[in-house]
Amino acid sequence: MARFQAPRGTRDLIPGEIERWQWVEAMARDVFDRYCYDEIRTPMFEDYELFARSSGEASEVVQKEMYRFKDQGDRDLALRPEGTAGVCRAYLEHGLASRGRVHRLWYMGPMFRYGRPQKGRYRQFWQIGAEIIGTPAPRADAEIIALFVDLFEAWGFEDLVVMVNSVGTVESRQAYADRLKDWLAPVAKLLSPESQERLTRNPLRVLDSKHPTDLAILAGKQGGLDPSTMPHMLDELDAESREHFEAVRSELESVEINSEIDHGLVRGLDYYTRTAFEVHDRSLGAQSALGGGGRYDGLIEELGGPATPGVGFSIGVDRVLLAMESRGDTLVKKAGTIFVASTEGTRPAAPAIVRALRAVYAVDHDLEARSLSSQMKSADKVEARVVMILGEDEWKQGQVVLRDMKTGSQTTANLDEMVESIDRILGSDREVESEEE
Ligand code: AMP
Repeated sequence: MARFQAPRGTRDLIPGEIERWQWVEAMARDVFDRYCYDEIRTPMFEDYELFARSSGEASEVVQKEMYRFKDQGDRDLALRPEGTAGVCRAYLEHGLASRGRVHRLWYMGPMFRYGRPQKGRYRQFWQIGAEIIGTPAPRADAEIIALFVDLFEAWGFEDLVVMVNSVGTVESRQAYADRLKDWLAPVAKLLSPESQERLTRNPLRVLDSKHPTDLAILAGKQGGLDPSTMPHMLDELDAESREHFEAVRSELESVEINSEIDHGLVRGLDYYTRTAFEVHDRSLGAQSALGGGGRYDGLIEELGGPATPGVGFSIGVDRVLLAMESRGDTLVKKAGTIFVASTEGTRPAAPAIVRALRAVYAVDHDLEARSLSSQMKSADKVEARVVMILGEDEWKQGQVVLRDMKTGSQTTANLDEMVESIDRILGSDREVESEEE
């Protein structure tokens, strides 16, 4: 066994695996570009206090999962557990509000949570997220949900349904919390210790519990609760939040996005307002949430800024990849490479040819002066599309041999026309592809 291993809950993404990640990232960039969202990159660690405020001092993330540390200057810092807090901090720090009223931003990067690692749950994981800061308009919620769905579609997901709910305002949520508490009262003693605690502090969070006992109780399988009698947040909404929710749903309908109401979808913190949404892939079992988001009209104020509405989402990239694997997607192939093989007499000329070709193609070659047959084996191994053989006789005539690895046929090409000749071989692939379409 190797002397050192990646820390528990972290993973290396090695060649063979990384291609799929690059593909997921490239597709995401493409979708964000088409939606006219700008990328923002913020530090991987911030003041601990920023997360304590944004995730809530009492939240599980802050209480148990935070990578909190003191640096050499005795600063109280933490590795970021999520992306929105940093984005909002940067929005305020750079006075983005003065540059325009509405900002559409996206980010991608690693997040850190000290949880118990399992499949789909890591201590370092990746998120891709987006935020619209500066408008309370329901159309913004619908746009962010459409973007959320279009990302999944770009990644090849077909039948995911977005679950939506509204968490209203601080006041309407309080009224709902009281009703929920009454409803849960008969089973209070049976709930997990954490949920019993939540019941007194923040009853909505009981609905967020992943504890098997709580899940069984909420599903009516234990304790005798009838899930169909669970109070619904939507029944407690204030008039404006109700109007907002209806507007979001009809906007979603107008862009043909299927959404279903999930009454159990709640967010417990005070600055979450109105829309909440999530998407699951049931094939992933317990860690089925691929991503979620919602409106956070109170967050920027909580961070010390002026009251500024916002709505956003984050997607767990690790889980997206797991779902793609379980769906049986084949690995995305890199575009065919060119392999330059040389012989004893032409070996000194190879690096210059390789470097020139690398201005146009992905080009591989042997670094170790091995035999031509070993070089051909390497070309096979990297699945080269074309092998350029620098044969001594041809080289003297200013020519090279091009071997089409798909058909096995070989042609001789003049050195000053090598790009055209290679393109002709690669072009035959494109013709086949367009015939197949
Ligand atoms: P959250 O910020 O908790 O709403 O998480 C957003 C998304 O990030 C989730 O839906 C998951 O897909 C993903 N996620 C959260 N925690 C982890 C983790 N520990 N490991 C892998 N993915 C995670």
